[in-house]
Amino acid sequence: AAQLRRRLETELEEIRGAGTWKNERVIASRQGPHLRLTGGGAGILNFCANNYLGLSSHPEVIRAAVEALEKFGAGLSSVRFICGTQSIHKDLEEKIARFHQREDAILYASCFDANAGIFEALLTPEDAVLSDELNHASIIDGIRLCKANKYRYKHMDMQDLEAKLQDAQKHRLRLVATDGAFSMDGDIAPLREICDLAQKYDALVFIDECHATGFLGPNGRGTDELLGVMDKVTIVNSTLGKALGGAAGGYTTGPKPLIDLLRQRSRPYLFSNSLPPAVVGCASKALDLLMESNAIAQSMAAKTQRFRSKMTAAGFTISGKDHPICPVMLGDARLAAVMAEDMLKRGIYVIGFSYPVVPKGKARIRVQISAVHSDEDIDRCVEAFTEVGRKHGALP
Ligand code: PLP
Repeated sequence: AAQLRRRLETELEEIRGAGTWKNERVIASRQGPHLRLTGGGAGILNFCANNYLGLSSHPEVIRAAVEALEKFGAGLSSVRFICGTQSIHKDLEEKIARFHQREDAILYASCFDANAGIFEALLTPEDAVLSDELNHASIIDGIRLCKANKYRYKHMDMQDLEAKLQDAQKHRLRLVATDGAFSMDGDIAPLREICDLAQKYDALVFIDECHATGFLGPNGRGTDELLGVMDKVTIVNSTLGKALGGAAGGYTTGPKPLIDLLRQRSRPYLFSNSLPPAVVGCASKALDLLMESNAIAQSMAAKTQRFRSKMTAAGFTISGKDHPICPVMLGDARLAAVMAEDMLKRGIYVIGFSYPVVPKGKARIRVQISAVHSDEDIDRCVEAFTEVGRKHGALP
């Protein structure tokens, strides 16, 4: 035990020394645009949650959770196939499939689990998977678990994807896997081109829609709706833990035989507890709200536009396009860290990202816009960035 302790302490020191230590700030209020942090900070403006539509603290979402908790209890103490399926789980799966216009859906405890479970269940050594090099860690881990032949194509590089698809013709089945929207850059996968190539080379397309479900596309269905390829993308994985109420949970939606197979074979589904009723209640209500109207998503899009255009006018470079993830590109890791600290002193909660989370020399502060930010909140954030940017030489 002493030897282990020494080894762990050395490893922890290395993380601190590399400047990649992640601190956790403790929030003493609900998730939302205005936060209270423990040990001080009240009235902090929050610009770093994935609470894109502000549904995490929406009164109807909370009420639905309380009702589900009271009616269906705290949890199932069981996996789904033993005694862990309630009517609300079936209703939510049906609602998710309807929302995405797919045949069926299956719930997981998280999208991390959905990504961990799909590739191994679907692909064999006879098959091939082609994955964007910047895909989320959970896709990378899911692919590691499967025995298919693995190809990694350059980020959103269609020439490279085509070359890899040509090489993969020798395999029985080809699956192209990509994030719909990439969370570090706020950029959107070129799904039309990906689907064209998939058609040309007889491949299937899988997308992870964690940063798209609920708000991208005219009705918030996601990247596939935004780019007009809902009928060409075969499999969608997404989360209930971001725009759809923010509690937890993930899912796969797609062809019914695939979902049936996942219920039989997908390990994170078979060997993990059912989603708790309160969590199901939140997500179900969030989907009801989004299927009734796209007003919330539109309000978020308008605020995103406001932030992006004001920051660009102030002289900052914002990566990505039209996405509520707005990375303020700074380049230098130290600059990103000190600016984020200074922003907090001005009551704005944002986080700096540097290597190894993003490539060397591409440090940034990632700002995430929510429908529940007011125009004044956005303007305050831009003003603080401008002041702090001038102070540290990021702006002239
Ligand atoms: N995929 C992407 C692209 C994500 O950003 C995340 C969360 O950070 C996940 C998957 C995992 O989602 P969950 O929090 O539901 O496990």
